[in-house]
Amino acid sequence: MKQNTTKSEFFEALERAALDLGAHRASVISADAIETDRVFRDMCASNACGMYGRCYMCPPDVGEIEVLMGEIGRYDHALVYQTVSELEDSYDFEGMVEAKKRTHPIAQSLRAVFSRPEIARVLHLGAGGCGVCETCAKRTGEPCRAPEMAMPSLEAYGVNVSRLAAAAEMRYTNGQNTVTYFGAVLFCLDGEVK
Ligand code: SF4
Repeated sequence: MKQNTTKSEFFEALERAALDLGAHRASVISADAIETDRVFRDMCASNACGMYGRCYMCPPDVGEIEVLMGEIGRYDHALVYQTVSELEDSYDFEGMVEAKKRTHPIAQSLRAVFSRPEIARVLHLGAGGCGVCETCAKRTGEPCRAPEMAMPSLEAYGVNVSRLAAAAEMRYTNGQNTVTYFGAVLFCLDGEVK
């Protein structure tokens, strides 16, 4: 990035990086616009996805919901991004799982994008679970195999993803026979970018 980059140029560069990595859309918003609700933790506890208590990055291991929702307030900005994937039909659960897996490399590659001196603090939140290991070490009683890559989801932090989509001026769903996933990178600037 060139010297004396303005804040809007810096944000545009972050958005472009997410798009280059394969995101369908990407937008930097104020972190104040992120709405949280502990009801999403209750939804995790209903274990519809089968991961409750089976991954270190999922509830309850990821942490107390009140603490995590409070953590969101420590950040100024968020790069919100979405992926949109085609499905064979609305019952194509395998296609949904594969589509979610394709979001993980984007989320991990964004770590390098945000490892720069202009970023003072960063929190990566992905789409629906960690996804780094095929089987989380939680299930075999071992320590996390890659703590530097482990990534919780937006939902685990109580983020209202449909409201997040609206705040980022993105569609929460993108039409019949598609599946849309969201991720976000919350961050603070170091004060050098004006
Ligand atoms: S990195 Fe692997 S072991 Fe660690 S939380 Fe993620 S899936 Fe589990």
